[in-house]
Amino acid sequence: MLAEKYDVFLIDLDGVMYIGDELLPGSKEAIAELRKMGKQIYFLTNDPRYLRQEFCEKLLRLGVSAHREEFITAGWATACYLSQHDIRQVQVIGTRSLQAEIAGKGIQVVKQGECQAVVVGYCEHTALGEIQQAVRQIENGAQFIATNSDISFPGNKGRCLATGSIVQVIQAASGQRPVIIGKPYSTMFQLALHKAGNHTRMVMIGDSPAIDIAGAHRNGLDAVLVEREPHSYPVPADYRIPNARLNNLVDLFQFHSEYREWRYPGFPWPDTIEPGVTAVIFNEHGKVLLVKRVDNGLWGLPSGHVEMAETVTQAIVREIHEETGLCAAVEKLVGVYSEPATQVFSYPSGKRTHFITLCFLCSISGGRLRADNSEVSRVAFFDIDALPTKLLPMHPQWLNDALGKADLAQIR
Ligand SMILES: [Mg+2]
Repeated sequence: MLAEKYDVFLIDLDGVMYIGDELLPGSKEAIAELRKMGKQIYFLTNDPRYLRQEFCEKLLRLGVSAHREEFITAGWATACYLSQHDIRQVQVIGTRSLQAEIAGKGIQVVKQGECQAVVVGYCEHTALGEIQQAVRQIENGAQFIATNSDISFPGNKGRCLATGSIVQVIQAASGQRPVIIGKPYSTMFQLALHKAGNHTRMVMIGDSPAIDIAGAHRNGLDAVLVEREPHSYPVPADYRIPNARLNNLVDLFQFHSEYREWRYPGFPWPDTIEPGVTAVIFNEHGKVLLVKRVDNGLWGLPSGHVEMAETVTQAIVREIHEETGLCAAVEKLVGVYSEPATQVFSYPSGKRTHFITLCFLCSISGGRLRADNSEVSRVAFFDIDALPTKLLPMHPQWLNDALGKADLAQIR
């Protein structure tokens, strides 16, 4: 049975223990059984509206045994994050309980005036003026921190609006991406690992593939899905695929449960997939043109995104000109590269993009070599036997493909 496979159980509240004020079938009995077996239990919720004590009282009211220290909420995790990062003054969009959770860590919650960070949670009484003020604070340099990114959650009359909806309004108006504390990001899982003494036999049980399952896998943990409607993911490396599926928590004690291994596929789970272009350009001495990227400090072939309403050849000619000042002409397609192990890029903002990149052999038709200074700090031609050591790892392969005699493009 699945219950025997693990020592520590991280259990989601909304949609696993209860929906609204109604306990879900079997959840109370399952918690009692896990306790009888001596298992550690932590309740993880992205709901930032209440104190840990309030969630604890709710479970006790519903007849489930629980202790305050077993709750890892997005609100409490946010307060821990602020305190760890020495953030002393914040504007809070959220309930009195969220404000109290943050103030409980000795952090000053300000209504107006300067602050180091804006914390966005959820409160149904939030006024548009507070959202406007948050945007101004972020414009003036305050950090943008979201308790969680859930757009909505299940209620007994249907979906209820949640934090992510407010976060997206502020993100759209400020043009900034927030640091997100709740699942599927790592803060709450790291707090759980810390509390449980870095136990290896730990599992997350949740009802959201994108939040609970992907979150657990991102943090190297097994994940079990409480599934009310069937989900399927065609790609085996998908982080949203659970190790096992349950109808409800009592299925943990069934003798024949299906379990499948989920292994780290060698790349982080991307947020988006985008078309990209790259160029191999040789000068008259057979040296290759490389640029040094500002964002990661690495050398690489000139490259970039395909913009909307642009062909791939227009895109590479534009990118070469923007990055290096040179005018170029496309000679031939060298290869198409989509392997996620090398084509998923993480940016400092936290965004992760999976690129499908077309690499072209190009020739120089004019222009004057210079670095653009915003995306690239240096541009230079290199002997192919003396490439810089700090080079994007997949580019030597692409360069080899360009130097090869094959008539057809490589597909990798
Ligand atoms: Mg849930």
